[in-house]
Amino acid sequence: MTVPSPAATTQTDGMVIVVTPCPHCRAVTCVCGYVAERDARREARRKERGRRQRQARPYDSVERTLHAGIIAAHVEAHGWWCPGAPDLGHKPHAVKPGALDVDDIVPVSRGGDRRDPQNKRVLCRRANRGRRA
Ligand SMILES: [Zn+2]
Ligand SMILES: [Zn+2]
Repeated sequence: MTVPSPAATTQTDGMVIVVTPCPHCRAVTCVCGYVAERDARREARRKERGRRQRQARPYDSVERTLHAGIIAAHVEAHGWWCPGAPDLGHKPHAVKPGALDVDDIVPVSRGGDRRDPQNKRVLCRRANRGRRA
């Protein structure tokens, strides 16, 4: 029986696996529990990341689809026309194709619902950006 040396290699079906010894107890097969605990923490972090991404994705695509639909309906009815925003002192005017954006009437930061079509209005990119800045 040989004592495993640090960074020992193990042969498994012709595959060489580099084994890193436990930084705590220095054994290749950890006996102090440190490696098992560290792996469990890594796995938990990985799962948490995956969960957050799954939550974020449908939320964004719902809003994107909603915005695209609002702009398409507006252009069909009015053409490329910024309807203006009286509350911003912004007058209606023609815009270049593609220069329209959808604005949250009540900003999300002030409790507005970003998925509620009633909280949306069409605004030109310039006015919408100026509003956020
Ligand atoms: Zn250990
Ligand atoms: Zn405008």
